[in-house]
Amino acid sequence: MPKENQNTFEQYMEEMSKMSPEEMSAKIKELDQECICGMCPTYMGTGEEKLTFCVIGKSTAIEKENGCICPGCPVQIELDLKWDYYCTKGSGKELAGIR
Ligand code: SF4
Ligand code: SF4
Repeated sequence: MPKENQNTFEQYMEEMSKMSPEEMSAKIKELDQECICGMCPTYMGTGEEKLTFCVIGKSTAIEKENGCICPGCPVQIELDLKWDYYCTKGSGKELAGIR
């Protein structure tokens, strides 16, 4: 079988689970730069300042869903994510049922 040149979401999560807390927080900072949540109608005006809910999980400030632009985000492609509304539904890991 031909070897795929991109990891699957599960492989990325496996890699990230081996990171130290310092490496993980550096990785999240890096992904925050690419996260487009700040331009999302669900995000704007909520007072939320965190980003990258696909990795960190649900927002404590966002309650009402007003559309999700995650499908157009580079992180979605980079990590092979398949879901949306991470801010209200939980991280990709949670949505994939990975512990
Ligand atoms: S996929 Fe969504 S939550 Fe994750 S970084 Fe992109 S916009 Fe933010
Ligand atoms: S996770 Fe989706 S719905 Fe939530 S703020 Fe980011 S783009 Fe908007």
